[in-house]
Amino acid sequence: MSKGIKKKNFGPCIVCGNHDPDIEYRRITTQTILKIDRSPNIENLNIEPKVDDQLCKKHYNELIVYERGMLKMGQKQKNCRDKSYYPSGGHPKRICLTQEKYENLIETSKKVDELQKHTNKLETELEQALSYIIINYYQITYNYFTVLQLY
Ligand SMILES: [Zn+2]
Repeated sequence: MSKGIKKKNFGPCIVCGNHDPDIEYRRITTQTILKIDRSPNIENLNIEPKVDDQLCKKHYNELIVYERGMLKMGQKQKNCRDKSYYPSGGHPKRICLTQEKYENLIETSKKVDELQKHTNKLETELEQALSYIIINYYQITYNYFTVLQLY
């Protein structure tokens, strides 16, 4: 009948139950079942895989070629280890700068600090001036009414 057509596994996956014909399935062999036993991902799953059970590509990768997956994940994490995006993740990224650029940055941040101090000082002075004006305004108004009452 279908002689010559390559035999394919059609699932279902013993982990997720998926049997989508578009997905590639792999049959568990006596070799791969040993790998599954050692997989760190198997602990999270409530299954006992047997030889000839099938796995979808995703779960095959997770349970059998996990070493490759872990390597990839490790590299990904390394690339993303920037504390500004991952506040809880690992060490902050190391950045290399020329000494000139580094000194410029330090200078700039000092200037920003100075500007901030200066702004704070101005704000305080402005507040004092405003309250002085307000007090004087009340004083003048009070005097004005006092003077009015005299007549
Ligand atoms: Zn699956």
